Amino acid sequence: MVSKNCIFCKIARGEIPGDMVYEDDDCVAFRDINPQAPTHVLVIPRKHIEGLAETEPEDQELLGKLVAVAARVAEQEDLVESGYRVVINWGEDAGMAVPHLHLHVLGGRKMSWPPG
Ligand code: AMP
Ligand code: ZN
Repeated sequence: MVSKNCIFCKIARGEIPGDMVYEDDDCVAFRDINPQAPTHVLVIPRKHIEGLAETEPEDQELLGKLVAVAARVAEQEDLVESGYRVVINWGEDAGMAVPHLHLHVLGGRKMSWPPG
């Protein structure tokens, strides 16, 4: 399933440009347009899912795949030794802005905890 007017669906379909770092049949990863760390990559499913709270039991395998791709991207970006963070925002309090499920892979600087 794709959504016609969704910006991330359009990037996944190649209709608008993205700075791609990884692609396979199920998901794509591209650099965030407004990076919050020296490395900031978004991993998304090709399937349009609004976000984590909208996932179904049938999406379990895909969710596992997305996390595995996040780890692969972090390795590709040489972040394993220094460390990295994987974040999924949902809803207003978390500041979710784009309603297509995405995992942020952030690294290349020291990060604080708890997150702001
Ligand atoms: P979130 O707040 O979790 O919904 O994150 C949405 C992220 O998408 C933000 O970090 C934006 O900078 C990023 N973003 C929005 N539009 C684009 C785009 N066209 N290409 C790359 N990243 C984008
Ligand atoms: Zn979408």
